[in-house]
Amino acid sequence: MRLDQLVQMINVDFFNINTVIIALITIGLITLMTILTYFLEQRALRLRQRRFTILAHGYEAASLVVSMILLRSICVTIDPENMLSWSYATAQLTVLLFGLYTMRNLAVEIINILMPIFFYGQGMYLGKGAHFVATFIIMTVLLSGTIIYFSRHRSSVMGSQWRYLALQLVYGGTWWFIIWSVHRFNLAYTINVLIIFIVYMWIIRFFVTRISALITKFTQLDQRVNYDELTGVRNRANFDTIKNEVFDAYKKRPNAAVTMAMFDIDHFKKFNDTYGHMTGDAVLKHVATHFETALFKQTTHGQLFRYGGEEFVVIFRGIPAEQARTTITAIRDDLQKETVDFNGQKLRVTVSFGISQLQPSDVTFDDWFNRVDHYLYLSKEAGRNRITVEGTTLVLS
Ligand code: GH3
Ligand code: MG
Ligand code: MG
Repeated sequence: MRLDQLVQMINVDFFNINTVIIALITIGLITLMTILTYFLEQRALRLRQRRFTILAHGYEAASLVVSMILLRSICVTIDPENMLSWSYATAQLTVLLFGLYTMRNLAVEIINILMPIFFYGQGMYLGKGAHFVATFIIMTVLLSGTIIYFSRHRSSVMGSQWRYLALQLVYGGTWWFIIWSVHRFNLAYTINVLIIFIVYMWIIRFFVTRISALITKFTQLDQRVNYDELTGVRNRANFDTIKNEVFDAYKKRPNAAVTMAMFDIDHFKKFNDTYGHMTGDAVLKHVATHFETALFKQTTHGQLFRYGGEEFVVIFRGIPAEQARTTITAIRDDLQKETVDFNGQKLRVTVSFGISQLQPSDVTFDDWFNRVDHYLYLSKEAGRNRITVEGTTLVLS
């Protein structure tokens, strides 16, 4: 091919309206995939449930497949004659590789690995026959290896400009050979298309790194606003948000039980006075972590908040008072079993509780909250290390 022919081909191919449309649609799809992935990952991070993480990865993989199908339908509509155009293929590769970058999940890796086989099979089905089988197999193995390497060394590849460039070269290059093994074209053309693909992916990387920096900033801000710095559990501000949510949900569905448990460390002031504020802090952290970890292991999904000082609240949704008492007592019993070692001192921490279920007669949230607070007071009054459930105080051993 002569140089002037090449230049003319680039002009015709790269600067036509269909190319621009496809590029814009690709950017739109990538934006939607980013937003979906962000929300799903945030949720998965909060819920910390394996089931939800698997579901989220399923949705992410589905969004990738839907994006590719959409791209195909759009390209068929706007340019039915030219389904093999470089812009269509580049858009598909961009979406595929982008999925690999942003969605850290196995399903997306498998889709990426299976895609060449699907592509080759489709070519055979359309009557292209099995050509260049060796080229196809070698390139598919090379591509699969690249994908697996990337998924294992994601952060080092994303962090280094050269590794990122090398990854794109190998990913784009192998793919163009795979396409070539089905629909032969002038191989000199590959270089142009590869350059365009790399430019595309550089622009995307530029945005992805900036967006993820922004997301990290928001997540840190959210952490600072909603979680307690000392203990790491939810704070008072978060409690104020959640309490309205819980109360409104109950008013809509009064049949779903909601129970609140409040607890306060007994004679906490003594820890501070005897061993110092630092030891007091360590005791607080210990109690909070013990409850948070134990609640996480339970299926009751109790949410723990540090209400203030050495006072904590747990909200159990869909759980009646009796069941909440069983859960809380079991967690408390485990806490008692361990004497806590702080700077060589063996300390025993006891806690008092108040527990009550939200009632239809509670006009405001505070009616419920004050009742629980009163039950906690009854436990303290009766001599501490006690639990009061719906007005009945029990001694804890
Ligand atoms: P009671 O059994 O009646 O609950 O007695 P108490 O000593 O636990 O209760 P009191 O309300 O008299 O004292 C609570 C103490 O908790 C007073 C306060 O200095 C201390 N405190 C509050 N927040 C922190 C904190 O973040 N770190 C430490 N080390 N102490 C704290
Ligand atoms: Mg106390
Ligand atoms: Mg207190």
